[in-house]
Amino acid sequence: MNIRLAAESLHSCSGCEISLLNIGEALIPLLNRLQLVHLPLLMDHKYSDPAGSETEISIPKAEIGLVSGGVANTHQLQVLEAMRKSCTTLVALGTCGTHGGIPAMINEWPMADALQTVFSTVTTEPVDVPNQDTPPMLDRVYSLDEKTDVDIFLPGCPPDPTIIARVLEDFLDGLTPEPVTKSVCDTCPTRRTGKSERKLLRFTANARFDSNESTASMQCLLEQGFLCMGPVTAGGCGHQGEPACIRARVPCRGCYGPVRHQDNQMLGMLNGLVSQGIDFKTIIDRKSMLRFSGAHGRLRPLKEKKRAS
Ligand code: SF4
Ligand code: SF4
Ligand code: SF4
Repeated sequence: MNIRLAAESLHSCSGCEISLLNIGEALIPLLNRLQLVHLPLLMDHKYSDPAGSETEISIPKAEIGLVSGGVANTHQLQVLEAMRKSCTTLVALGTCGTHGGIPAMINEWPMADALQTVFSTVTTEPVDVPNQDTPPMLDRVYSLDEKTDVDIFLPGCPPDPTIIARVLEDFLDGLTPEPVTKSVCDTCPTRRTGKSERKLLRFTANARFDSNESTASMQCLLEQGFLCMGPVTAGGCGHQGEPACIRARVPCRGCYGPVRHQDNQMLGMLNGLVSQGIDFKTIIDRKSMLRFSGAHGRLRPLKEKKRAS
């Protein structure tokens, strides 16, 4: 079956699109069966329908729409709505789209304050926050499903190219792609001894491992005292089933977002750490556990949270 594909990137770094291209040679047979109708990364496209309203965004009809990035301004919201209208199945591609991603870290501050801070600097002449020819910002960074219906969530920062290829293949074969149900820990080969450090180490310390041995011989990084987010992070990164960061002997930072879409990575991790006897006070950068999943109201300005309590 041939299907039409449209893709868009909103509040994103374009890394997810690069991951799409990084499917590499395996993309060639897929392209024989995919008709790319809209892909600004590769093809020029005028958003306005010449016959329609100048302000209306027009995107060609497609069976599948990939959208990366969250939503932070009114233009991105319009593009998302146009994609939803044109695409039968909408896929949130990447953790910015599924959970806000790194850009949603700004949600810790009121948007106006954050912009003021960015455009005022102590080292150069402060400038006004740009307000001409730029779309107005929303009050915070939203994930896609906070603004429209999303059919499939494909997290990752960026998602591994093999995962994107598998989802596209499933579509072409008329199958519904299976959601991830495993955590990073479930696919991690490290050795677990059941003996944990009682305080968390800063990431500036080196993990204990023998570079001549496989990762299977390395003790679990969480047990070694590093804040490894593997227990609360969706699996799927890396090749041959080995999580990408663990393979590089560094802790998981949580970039695939929570295992179940609605879970809170910070609460899950804190529960796990405390139940392992780790001293709560040694966990100094708690909010960093939401560095990839700050949308859905997880990260909020302090004052707002105080008002709510
Ligand atoms: S999920 Fe990561 S790679 Fe994709 S757009 Fe966001 S920051 Fe970039
Ligand atoms: S906590 Fe980290 S190192 Fe330990 S098993 Fe999970 S992913 Fe592997
Ligand atoms: S190990 Fe964690 S941070 Fe590293 S790529 Fe996998 S999900 Fe992302």
